[in-house]
Amino acid sequence: MKKFAINPNNCDKSPGCPVRRECPSHAILEMDGVYYIDMDVCRGCGLCVKVCPRNAVEESAS
Ligand code: SF4
Repeated sequence: MKKFAINPNNCDKSPGCPVRRECPSHAILEMDGVYYIDMDVCRGCGLCVKVCPRNAVEESAS
């Protein structure tokens, strides 16, 4: 399964984040104002890469 991560340098932490809205697994969580992907529920579909307007979601190597 592919794995993805949110690059905090590109993420603007928008409260209207389309990635949070569109993720079919509701895998985008927030801690201390930083968005991250909960890999326990992510299904690896890659939709987040397509919907982020700031290209903040990247496929991770591992
Ligand atoms: S890969 Fe799919 S399930 Fe995983 S965080 Fe991205 S949109 Fe959600």
